[in-house]
Amino acid sequence: MKTVYDTPQHLELKRKSVLFLVQMGCLSIETEYKIGQGKNGYAFRADVAGIKDGKLIVVECGGTSMWKLNKLLPFVGELYILPHGQDKPFKWNANMVICQGCGNLKGVVGAGYERNPRSHKALNIYG
Ligand SMILES: [Zn+2]
Repeated sequence: MKTVYDTPQHLELKRKSVLFLVQMGCLSIETEYKIGQGKNGYAFRADVAGIKDGKLIVVECGGTSMWKLNKLLPFVGELYILPHGQDKPFKWNANMVICQGCGNLKGVVGAGYERNPRSHKALNIYG
């Protein structure tokens, strides 16, 4: 069995995300939810996922690569991000550029932002 390493901060975000999905009325809520077909039998692991009205609702916790978010999108009904330092996830769409370091929204594609930016930390403008 493979152990998934998690920082206390990331675990706390997952706990908040599970609560969020419960309050939303999701059923079958799971962490490390496997999505798609890949070498390991799955292609991606979503941090937290649940089912509502037959739709898969996913919450990614903290910084996530834009590459992964765009790959997840076809599999999910709704995709949320819970950034570090926040209590409530926000609903993500493919035009929203997030920081890969913390998950906070940076801007929208086309308004001076690339689809795949470096983290705020790398740019020294964290937050
Ligand atoms: Zn950041």
